[in-house]
Amino acid sequence: MSNFRVDYETRLVEEAVLRVMPGRPEEGAFRQARDHLYELGDPDERDQAFCTFHGQWFQRLGLCQPLEETLAERPILSQETQRCAVVRARSKKEEGAELFVSPDPAAGRSIGLQLRPESLLEPVQLLGLLRHEFLHIADMLTPEFGYEPELHVPEEGMARRLVQDRYRVLWDTTIDGRLVREGHAPERVRLRRLQDFARAFPMLGPELEHHFARYFDQANHRHAQLVCCARDPVQALGLEDAVDRHCPLCTFPSYNFEPDPEDLPPVLVRQIQAHFPAWHPAHGICRQCADLYRSRKEYA
Ligand SMILES: [Zn+2]
Ligand SMILES: [Zn+2]
Repeated sequence: MSNFRVDYETRLVEEAVLRVMPGRPEEGAFRQARDHLYELGDPDERDQAFCTFHGQWFQRLGLCQPLEETLAERPILSQETQRCAVVRARSKKEEGAELFVSPDPAAGRSIGLQLRPESLLEPVQLLGLLRHEFLHIADMLTPEFGYEPELHVPEEGMARRLVQDRYRVLWDTTIDGRLVREGHAPERVRLRRLQDFARAFPMLGPELEHHFARYFDQANHRHAQLVCCARDPVQALGLEDAVDRHCPLCTFPSYNFEPDPEDLPPVLVRQIQAHFPAWHPAHGICRQCADLYRSRKEYA
């Protein structure tokens, strides 16, 4: 029924094979056979021969195994897309999967996966990365999740980045929680996610762990709910009655205010007043807004 296929970029395959080969018992035979290919006179024929040769060794060395295994764990990926294109990432930060939806319905959807060649040599870490990334893609492909590629929120600039960051943290929390329950991620992932969550949701104060558990330990979250909570966590989580103080900048209720706003550096106060001329440190500022201004370079 499905004509799903995995395509690897030629240079990624070649680089991974060349990296894994040194010191292996097959290395001599590999080098000898590879050297022979240089004897082919026609450049196109030679390129094709190298491509086939490295592809065969890639298979033989089991380098395609983590990808095959993780694709098989989420059948929706091969059922609902036509192709997984694996290309070379230049940095660790670039590594990850994306879903591409062609405007031409006949061309359908495909997965773009960026990996560094060295990652193909670390199967345990690679399995972890692929499982996390592929669950993002599986959510996008599941109609009930209701994914939308554009974040439809009125916030702009720094505030928008803040909502995007909280959304990412919420989604990652639900993903890693599911992976731990499936036995596909170690228990210690929980602590790392909780730290991320605490950084993104300081306004939850003493309620933080309780609400973290709601995302980490429960299933069936939807895109729209995550967006809602990312925009106004206190209201989305029903904490409004418990929190009686609103930040004069973002106007959102918060448990967590900057402890000594009058001690903020004058340069920071001037930056805030450039946006909010009527604001004075004595009016207070929530921790998250203060942090936003502290890290302006990051959020500008
Ligand atoms: Zn993620
Ligand atoms: Zn604020």
